[in-house]
Amino acid sequence: MKRILIIGGVAAGATAAARARRLDGEADITLLEAGDDVSFANCGLPYFIGGDVKNRSDLILASPETFHDQYRVNVHTATEVSAIDRAAKSVSAVNKKNGKKLTFKYDALILAQGGKPIVPPLPGVDRKNVFQLWTLDDMDKINSFIKENSPRTAVVVGGGFIGLEMVEALAKRGMQVQLVEMAPQIMPLLEAEMAGFLEKDLLDYGVTLHLGKGLQAIEKNGVKISDGSILPADMVLLSVGVRPTLKLAQDAGLAIGTAGGLLVDDRLQTSDENIYAAGDMVEIENRVNGRKTRIPLAGPANRQGRIAGENAVGGNKRYKGASGTSVVKLFGAVAGSTGLNLKQARDAGFDADAVVVHKASHTSYYPGSSKVSLMLVFEKESGKILGAQAAGRVGVDKRIDVLATAIAGGLALSDLEELDLAYAPPFNS
Ligand code: FAD
Repeated sequence: MKRILIIGGVAAGATAAARARRLDGEADITLLEAGDDVSFANCGLPYFIGGDVKNRSDLILASPETFHDQYRVNVHTATEVSAIDRAAKSVSAVNKKNGKKLTFKYDALILAQGGKPIVPPLPGVDRKNVFQLWTLDDMDKINSFIKENSPRTAVVVGGGFIGLEMVEALAKRGMQVQLVEMAPQIMPLLEAEMAGFLEKDLLDYGVTLHLGKGLQAIEKNGVKISDGSILPADMVLLSVGVRPTLKLAQDAGLAIGTAGGLLVDDRLQTSDENIYAAGDMVEIENRVNGRKTRIPLAGPANRQGRIAGENAVGGNKRYKGASGTSVVKLFGAVAGSTGLNLKQARDAGFDADAVVVHKASHTSYYPGSSKVSLMLVFEKESGKILGAQAAGRVGVDKRIDVLATAIAGGLALSDLEELDLAYAPPFNS
């Protein structure tokens, strides 16, 4: 009976456990999770705070009991692994509730430890009204603070996915929200035109933007930013990036890659053949330019979890990399992207160009259509599609998913003309 041990029990770890069980009915599978919950929907946390998701329990996709009863996986929550002994093929852990020290042996180990939000080392970040959003526990703290203190003003620092989703959530809870972003635009990887569409929606909903400004300190009377102004803030949400959790792997001497994530091959094997890794902690290959990169998103984490789970029980599945396909909703606006933007494409050495079209999301005579801006990045000589970005109110996700599929299939511009896509006036133009 093969012993499969998994560290980290949310997206990649839980998926790896389920996949390993499906493929191997005999394996002894154990999941160790430092937090109190496994398999929860961290992507749903902002929507619970904003009130779109009503029941907290809907965010818990599988409990430790479900894992045990349905998959025969032994789950240890509140169990933090402190060291990996590669020679003995064992890990040391501590139960955070009773302090008990534990040792677990493995034949194959899967690391799925994810990452942690970065806390900038600035005065005031440890104040009681300053939060980050990463776990259910973080969500509960934010929710309780709002209920108990009825904050009227909020400052969100960081204009990436989570920051933006939290701007909307806090505004929906009745707060006057200000957003501070160091870059000259929100969502720095989006083309300015696409980001500008989202920014306009933020302004329309009464959010104040402080672009090109850095956080300097969080003081009693508000948030001090680099232009010297102090923004009133009954509460502050920091969302300035994620760092992969690598200490265990580093201490165990596993190789770290050039993009700053844990190095894995296309079977998601680390530099130790008995240890696999998946999710936000690893670096992978960008499908379009072949470069090593970190793409901390749920889709890649789950897909990698399946592959690591399969290979840990003797499979030979290969990971093909990711193209960073993502989408974000902000009030009524949506923006999405896949592959490379024009600058990234040129930096990667492609002789690239781009075309932008602004078209109705579906036939304009049918009610409810609105404009979608779509930018397509391609290699000039071959016409190969390298990336796409879109912004609008409806139909953005569809266009991005079609183009992500086109990139995965290696299609060129001329192939797009030939695509046979569904058409009826309410859906398409
Ligand atoms: P995680 O889900 O972070 O899980 C890692 C787990 O490992 C943690 O629970 C941690 O406690 C545990 N762990 C770490 N070290 C140890 C240890 N030593 N011992 C035991 N356990 C340990 N992605 C999208 O694609 N779309 C979205 O809309 C989206 N929205 C998001 C919204 C929020 C608020 C957040 C936080 C993330 C969002 N993401 C989104 C990102 C996505 O959730 C992550 O990419 C994904 O969860 C990564 O999965 P993972 O398994 O690698 O890591």
